[in-house]
Amino acid sequence: MIGAIAGDIVGSVYEWSNYKAKDFSPLFRADCFYTDDTICTIAVADALLNQKPPAQCLKDWGLRYFENNGWGSSFRRWLKSPDDGPYNSWGNGAAMRVSPAAWLATSLEQALEFSRMVTEVTHNHAEGLKGADATTAAIYLARQGKVAADIRTYLQTTFGYDLSATVDQIRPTYVFNESCQGTVPQALTCALEATSFEDAIRNAISIGGDSDTVAAIAGPVAEALFGMPDWIQSEVKSKLPGEMTRVLAELYR
Ligand SMILES: [Mg+2]
Repeated sequence: MIGAIAGDIVGSVYEWSNYKAKDFSPLFRADCFYTDDTICTIAVADALLNQKPPAQCLKDWGLRYFENNGWGSSFRRWLKSPDDGPYNSWGNGAAMRVSPAAWLATSLEQALEFSRMVTEVTHNHAEGLKGADATTAAIYLARQGKVAADIRTYLQTTFGYDLSATVDQIRPTYVFNESCQGTVPQALTCALEATSFEDAIRNAISIGGDSDTVAAIAGPVAEALFGMPDWIQSEVKSKLPGEMTRVLAELYR
């Protein structure tokens, strides 16, 4: 889960100013910051850890940090609306916030059940649900020690994503896309092709597009595959308010 937040923070400065290469430096630019991807991930963790209704929890955290400017337009409207119902979204927000489902589950079935619980409250379109489930499954299987090649095969056969393009093949033509179907396959490839956590984040930034969200989806898969260096975890925590680091600590306990 902290891998999602690391990806969001690193990517925050590239979302509107893509950098299509892996050699950016430093990894955490001085002006990087957490965005909606982090706020929603923390809200999902809080809901699952403390048995809170997911829609209410997303609204509570979202409204408390509403001044963050990264919201998708439909989600922003939903946050402000008195209506708590889902709005058939296929947005990539379903996948960027879902990682706690995989970290808190003790079986793949339970991980997918958690994914459904926290996703259907807003992203109840088939592509939204699929994006969340595929991301959750990738993280869960990596946590169980499955290798990248097996995870790729599982994702292709179970969810029908075409994961045949490499990062180098995706990069030249990839552009901003806010859908699950136009973000999740590419983000998963960035993690599955990586050689380390940092390499996965560099892959994610290098393809461009919705950089913070691509990296927030690739990040937790890479975290589960490779683990995360202490210095990256410390850097992430130093950027977060205390009530967010407390939720993180609770999740890893
Ligand atoms: Mg964002």
